[in-house]
Amino acid sequence: METGAAVNDRMLRACFAAAAKGAPSHAYIIEGEDERILRGLSDYFIQLLLCESHDACGKCPSCRFLAEGGHPDLIRVVPEKPGVIKVDDIRIGLVEDMSIRPYRSRYKIYVVEHAEWMNVQAQNALLKTLEEPPSYGVILLLSCNTEALLPTIISRSVRLKAMSGGHGWERIPEEERYRLARIFTGIRGTDTAGIHTAAEQLAADDFAPDQVIGGLRTWIRDIMALKLSGAEDRIVIREALPALRTAAEDYTWKQINAILAMTDTAEGRISSGVNPAWQYELLLARMR
Ligand SMILES: [Zn+2]
Repeated sequence: METGAAVNDRMLRACFAAAAKGAPSHAYIIEGEDERILRGLSDYFIQLLLCESHDACGKCPSCRFLAEGGHPDLIRVVPEKPGVIKVDDIRIGLVEDMSIRPYRSRYKIYVVEHAEWMNVQAQNALLKTLEEPPSYGVILLLSCNTEALLPTIISRSVRLKAMSGGHGWERIPEEERYRLARIFTGIRGTDTAGIHTAAEQLAADDFAPDQVIGGLRTWIRDIMALKLSGAEDRIVIREALPALRTAAEDYTWKQINAILAMTDTAEGRISSGVNPAWQYELLLARMR
């Protein structure tokens, strides 16, 4: 993946996939407004990287280590005092430790929460490692304020922007929004005929394809946010919270990635003139 690029949810999935296939970058900046989401996101990413099948299987020894609260190849850099990360925090917690090879995994992962707390000396110490990282080193910088990081750190990292925006949900008129939320809510547990009816309703003239696709992305985004952090205060489609909560429990990450990939495909096909109703039907069937 390109370094230094700002990426959205779509790129995030590519990043997950790259990690799962075993070709991660050496540094990521996971940025966003909500620390709980950043933590949830990084925890999932870590599990993908350390899992023995790179699948976050939940069953292998690595996944079990993580579930039990610790993995020998996962190091969290915790500052001595909250509010500032000093050069010794980085030097001892990361730079020196990274010269020791991983114990049992292909990677050794370092997590720096509140990366914006690093002072300039700490950032410079980190920079040296970023210039010549060992092959197994992966650094995750979690940050609510990336602007506080040196441009040289940013340019050597892959930026992942977490869960920002509602994919235009706010711009859909209220009445349509309500109807879309009702249709999406009905998808889980309906039958083939129900999926067909819902797809026909979505393809009706009063919904533009970008409203439907944007709405679906917002829907999935909310499910991901609930799955990652359980936090309800940042949910966009608030009127559908119970249905979103159920979906967050039911869907696996694999299913979510498949739905998002299918949403991209549907969007492309619709814009090249394919009948939207068919695409919606395929998508909804996948979401059922
Ligand atoms: Zn596993």
